[in-house]
Amino acid sequence: MHTDLHTHTTESDGALTPSELIALARENGVARLAITDHDTVGAYSLLPEQDAVDVIPGVELSVLWNGRTIHIVGLNFDLDDRGLTHGLASQSEARIERARKIASRLARLGTPDWFETVMERSGGTPGRPHFAQLLVEAEFVKDVAGAFKRYLGAGKPGDVKSAWAPLDEAVGWIRAAGGNAVVAHPAKYAMTNTKLGCLIRDFKAAGGDAIEIVCGQQDPGVTAKLERWCHELDMTASCGSDFHTPANSWSSPGRFLPPPQSITPVWDSWQKL
Ligand code: MN
Ligand code: MN
Ligand code: MN
Repeated sequence: MHTDLHTHTTESDGALTPSELIALARENGVARLAITDHDTVGAYSLLPEQDAVDVIPGVELSVLWNGRTIHIVGLNFDLDDRGLTHGLASQSEARIERARKIASRLARLGTPDWFETVMERSGGTPGRPHFAQLLVEAEFVKDVAGAFKRYLGAGKPGDVKSAWAPLDEAVGWIRAAGGNAVVAHPAKYAMTNTKLGCLIRDFKAAGGDAIEIVCGQQDPGVTAKLERWCHELDMTASCGSDFHTPANSWSSPGRFLPPPQSITPVWDSWQKL
């Protein structure tokens, strides 16, 4: 795909710097890219001066909906918008507070206190993957999957509830900053169809625009289901790789199946390339 609207850098839990990511995207033939780091737009002050890749403002927000954490991708907004900047600052505080709690819970289970280490490694945007990496390095577990299974996943000690913004508030920030809001990877929340329908309806009612109809390598059945939601609720569609690291051979910028022809892409209303 030449449009990839979901990627990460070293500004959150990605392995490549913004410049390295853009270089790889260009190599893969991506012409339009959004960097969607978790709760930060830090990458946008680190962009190379000139590039063949059109880099669209982006962010991936963690939000609360009915007690669950949902991810909302914001796209094509004003990077200097005050409301959004303020919102991102409070998300960052919630994230750092969560990391502090995870570190102390893990320390109680015998690890060193990793708070300062994750802060340093994550450029101030610490997430559970950073703790997972440390658990692997210190040989508490064999791999990242094991770290989530034993320490960080749902119901485990490192599964700390965080004070994320409510869904409608976060969607409001993006919309007020002139951007489009996308409900990210809807199939990854392990919800029933009924629940997922409620989520997407609530998201739309809050001002949400688009459904992320393709997220990386995904089952065509999932795409078909999300395509039906787009039509039923008259919403546009977004797509992206959710690229984090070249170490995962199945994931690379722009490497996913194009969204079905029947949908309206979220970027249709943007300035043409
Ligand atoms: Mn991530
Ligand atoms: Mn996500
Ligand atoms: Mn992501």
